[in-house]
Amino acid sequence: MKGLFKKGGAIFNSFLGFYLLAVLMLWLKTYYTQSTQFDLGVEGDLQQFLLFINPLGSALLFLAISFLFKGTRKYTVLIVIYTAMTFLLFANAVHYRFFSDFITLPSVMQTQNFGDLGGSVITLLNVTDILFFVDVALLVYLRYSKKVQKQLTRVGWKKSFAIVAVALSISAANLQLAEADRPQLLSRGFDRNYIVKYLGMYNYAIYDTVKTAEASSERAKADSDDIVEVVNYTKGHYAAPNEKYFGIAKDMNVIYIHLESVQNFLIDYELNGVEVMPFLNSLTKDPNFLYFDHFYHQTAQGKTADAEFMLENSLYGLPQGSAFITKGQNTYEAAPNMLKDYGYTSAVFHGNKGTFWNRNVIYNQFGYDEFFDADSYDTSDPKNMAEYGLLDKPFFEQSIPLIESLPQPFYTKFITVAHHFPYKMDQELTTIEKATTGDTSVDNYFQTARYADEALAQFFAYLKESGLYDNTMIVMYGDHYGISNNHNRAMSELIGQEVTPVVHADLQQVPLLIYVPGMEGGVNHTYGGQIDLLPTVMHLLGVETQDRIYFGTDLLSEDHQQIVPFRNSDFVSPTIYAVDGKFYDKSTGLEIDETQAELFEEAKSLQGIVEERLSYSDKVVNGDLLRFHVTEPKN
Ligand code: MN
Repeated sequence: MKGLFKKGGAIFNSFLGFYLLAVLMLWLKTYYTQSTQFDLGVEGDLQQFLLFINPLGSALLFLAISFLFKGTRKYTVLIVIYTAMTFLLFANAVHYRFFSDFITLPSVMQTQNFGDLGGSVITLLNVTDILFFVDVALLVYLRYSKKVQKQLTRVGWKKSFAIVAVALSISAANLQLAEADRPQLLSRGFDRNYIVKYLGMYNYAIYDTVKTAEASSERAKADSDDIVEVVNYTKGHYAAPNEKYFGIAKDMNVIYIHLESVQNFLIDYELNGVEVMPFLNSLTKDPNFLYFDHFYHQTAQGKTADAEFMLENSLYGLPQGSAFITKGQNTYEAAPNMLKDYGYTSAVFHGNKGTFWNRNVIYNQFGYDEFFDADSYDTSDPKNMAEYGLLDKPFFEQSIPLIESLPQPFYTKFITVAHHFPYKMDQELTTIEKATTGDTSVDNYFQTARYADEALAQFFAYLKESGLYDNTMIVMYGDHYGISNNHNRAMSELIGQEVTPVVHADLQQVPLLIYVPGMEGGVNHTYGGQIDLLPTVMHLLGVETQDRIYFGTDLLSEDHQQIVPFRNSDFVSPTIYAVDGKFYDKSTGLEIDETQAELFEEAKSLQGIVEERLSYSDKVVNGDLLRFHVTEPKN
């Protein structure tokens, strides 16, 4: 070491040597921290490589800010930046030990999260944490050591420029590889774990800052007058409950079962003469079940999260990204919050990480009392695991003691994961053959659907045996399409018809089943979508909704308007469809042209209704307007 200093005068006596040493140390320390302190779910060589490379670009770039300074000041500036980055890393490591999550700016500003942490911060610290700062001490030593000469001139512009260019190219390549592995990584957000895994701690901090700034500027522009206009709109579109159904599930428990990626075409579908989902099929014919066969998903980029967002709030998801991520701190009236006034305890069951889709944050805003995520389940047996968490059968089985821990009445949601794109499944767990279209994810789709169906049957057996079946309303819904229109060729082979625009729109149908003990069920052909679920469920529970800001209406109401807006302003209705901005006559499947004046005018007027509705909903979500909405609690 001594020899190095002496001889290496050449290295450390130049500021660039000092800078490169700092870059190297920060890079390796960050990589080591990212791999050992966080549970990022790194899989495969590419992700491992990205995790390794991602701190380098940031270290080169941020420490290069020191190049702007002269004299010994640049050493000081470099050490200050280095220390700040170290502290960011350290604070996140400590935060993660408690929350299994990274720090977000809104959570820092609200400090509510840290309240939970309270005085226990000390207990989260390890003696070895001192190692986070050993390198800082080394830099400080080098800065003040008389043995190391200081370079007082500024780093040349050419050198500075070259280094910044290298830093930016590394970061750009990093981002490109990350987006290739996980398309729409930044636009959709998904999970903070993903951003750190792919782009590293420092880029995550920038991402979080930008997202927070965007959200707060939209929020800041809104004021309490904005809510008045919205209230007038939703009141004007209110659909009064149907007396036949209002309150028939009063004081009952509620169980939502989120049927991951189940499309309505699967109902009664036979593959090679074998029913794919025999149990679900039997429920559609059960006399106590209402089965809606013209029910559509209305999700956009947020997919699963958008479906949940709509059913909890009767607000539309956002056109870009996911409200779960970007509007996670908003005020929500949401079903769990509302049902507190009626004595309900609420809980979500999900065998994946709580951070996925920012659920751990937004569920709090929705008013959920409990969130049983992967930490509440035994996920140690790899055989029980799917790509997005615990497989449905062990999931339902392990959920039993958790359900039984809840006071009744409860409002609960079970989010399944086994039937999730790309529908891969251990062949030992499958009980039917694959399809044979030659399109892999389409062919796999049926085996996982069957598995999900078997898990469902198993759960229902428990509900009946435990007696919950006699005092529980059960709502099952498909969350979004499972097969996208990139697979139309295989799809048309499976459904035996060409995927025209009208057929494509109808492939967005997902099953909706509602069971209430003693209710007269049957098949209901009403056109509706996920936005309509909340008012429907509330009315079955006997909860009035006329003062609520809901953008959907009760599917069982006589006043329910049969128009289903999609997030891109397309829509379906019993007579007219809009697909990719073009209007179609539902009865012929043909495009409506301007010679069919009456139909065309009607289509345009429906289009106007759809656009107006979406824009009011976006106003509420972007402006966080529910914080201005005051309603009297009902009893
Ligand atoms: Mn989903």
